[in-house]
Amino acid sequence: MTSEEVLKRYFGYNSFRGLQKEAIQAVLSGRDALVLMPTGGGKSLCYQIPALMKEGLTVVISPLIALMKDQVEMLRDSGINAATLNSSQTFQESRQVMRQLANGELKLLYVAPERLMTPKMLSILSEIKINLFAVDEAHCISIWGHDFRPEYKQLSLLKEKFPTVPRMALTATADEQTREEIVSRLLVNPARFIMSFDRPNIRYRMYEKGKGYLDQVVNFIRGEHLHDSGIVYCATRKRAESVAAHLHACGINALIYHAGLTSEERDANQEAFFEHPCVMVATVAFGMGIDKPDVRFIIHVDMPKSIENYFQETGRAGRDGKAAEAVLYYGLEDLIQQRYFIEQSEADDLYKQVTLQKLDSMLGLAEAASCRRVLLLNYFGEKSEPCGNCDNCENPPKTQDATVDAQKLLSCIYRCSKTNSLGFGASHVINVLRGEVNDRIFEKNHDELPTFGIGRAHTMKYWRKILRQLVSRHYVNVNYQFWNVLTVTERAKPLLKGEEKFFIRVDGLGQLSSRKVVDHEDLDDSEQILFHQLRQWRKEVARQREIASYNVFTDETLIQIAKRKPRQPSQLLGISGIGEKRIAHYGESVCELINAWYQEQKHMPI
Ligand code: ADP
Ligand code: ZN
Repeated sequence: MTSEEVLKRYFGYNSFRGLQKEAIQAVLSGRDALVLMPTGGGKSLCYQIPALMKEGLTVVISPLIALMKDQVEMLRDSGINAATLNSSQTFQESRQVMRQLANGELKLLYVAPERLMTPKMLSILSEIKINLFAVDEAHCISIWGHDFRPEYKQLSLLKEKFPTVPRMALTATADEQTREEIVSRLLVNPARFIMSFDRPNIRYRMYEKGKGYLDQVVNFIRGEHLHDSGIVYCATRKRAESVAAHLHACGINALIYHAGLTSEERDANQEAFFEHPCVMVATVAFGMGIDKPDVRFIIHVDMPKSIENYFQETGRAGRDGKAAEAVLYYGLEDLIQQRYFIEQSEADDLYKQVTLQKLDSMLGLAEAASCRRVLLLNYFGEKSEPCGNCDNCENPPKTQDATVDAQKLLSCIYRCSKTNSLGFGASHVINVLRGEVNDRIFEKNHDELPTFGIGRAHTMKYWRKILRQLVSRHYVNVNYQFWNVLTVTERAKPLLKGEEKFFIRVDGLGQLSSRKVVDHEDLDDSEQILFHQLRQWRKEVARQREIASYNVFTDETLIQIAKRKPRQPSQLLGISGIGEKRIAHYGESVCELINAWYQEQKHMPI
């Protein structure tokens, strides 16, 4: 049978899509292959069809039990002998599968990576004929990928243990760095099948959260999409609950989905979502395997953690090819909150650096003044032209010429990096630029650099914004393997020479005035964290003493403390709003908190 005949007979489809046929051909000829297709692109057939055409067994490695089960059920329905081995099975069930395996009765075996790499499993597999290893969600093997899973790492051994069996790595999200990591760990001289990530029917829009943005969401749904299905993504379960309540109160029939619900509730809501048009308010828990073709809109009311997440979540809209909308509301509060969670998490340092950098790239996209699609595709290594179907193309935002500032920052990064072969991180470079006097700057003699203090006129926050745009346009490289230190790239040369201009967007500042002070302009990242911790502390003290927070300390006082970082109570004197009495009351515990913060900083980047 030809591959077309297999497609027709087992799957009922008339023709291949995109690069499916070519990828299948490569595997049939015995080559390794890298398959990059957006979600819904039809990756599974790329290994399922060779599995049916070749003699022996195809082993599919996948991290998700639910997806494995679905696929196996579907294949069995089509009369294909497939099975899965996973931790949710009874001993009886897995023994049955093992027996079929040893007898050579299976065409496809779906298995989790940790199960595959057990000695017992490897020894059974070495006895039978295997025609292909297909590694699904292959980006999980990359530390740079947004969903690194340690158990994927062992898959590097497949090359050595089964050198003659072809391997196929499949993923829906991989920028260039991730792609190279997948290839080097899993494949040998692979054929590459990279389908465009463009989803031209999706219209991208991004807004900074202003007062009443939830009412804009309500108007958007009620006005244009009352009879459509859509998903509203929230950062946390609590947010999902409160956003859903808000929508309900406004007469929108919203369902909820997050990991805090019972599995019965989740199943019921998911089913309802598939059955009739409605709005699902959800965390990222709602997603994997959602293949509803007519989702008309995706709204993010909180910023996703990475561009990969954003792309994957918005990619659930418009699968039917008809016009669909992706609207994002982002706020700097979300960002600081997320940075704080990352810093506080138990994860290792490398992981934290990667995650922080990804978050910054996402913000860089949100703040951009140019075509969203160009930037989005560029992130995944694809070149394209302005699309005419995003907010920035439709209504070009007001911009300002920031060429001189960009040059200042670039040359400061360059000067700093010349004094240390690896370079320095964002906070340090910007502190030098702003002429801050701190120990680290003296220690490195960076107060003697010609760029010291030439950026005093602007806040830390402003420089951060310039930096994010420089990074997202590849003028500056961030070394995520080493404390996110910065280096200037070749690409920056024309800008430094003045042959190119650099514009940034000017935002409607009017909207922001009513926001709470949680992101002070002059605090650097680590000071923001301290400020956040001080506020938590204040909340607790106020609760215990049954007084209002501002009677403990005002925000302004906490900002001053975060800037000065006194280690002993006596050093608090002189900060506005702090007298003898407050020092006696709170001095000890404030300094304790600050000293703990210093401890954490020891593990922080340069
Ligand atoms: P991915 O794994 O890339 O997200 P799937 O392999 O799950 O995508 O395929 C997505 C959907 O497209 C499935 O319902 C699948 O049956 C369908 N599909 C895949 N290839 C074809 C094709 N050549 N013709 C029609 N439908 C296809
Ligand atoms: Zn555009």
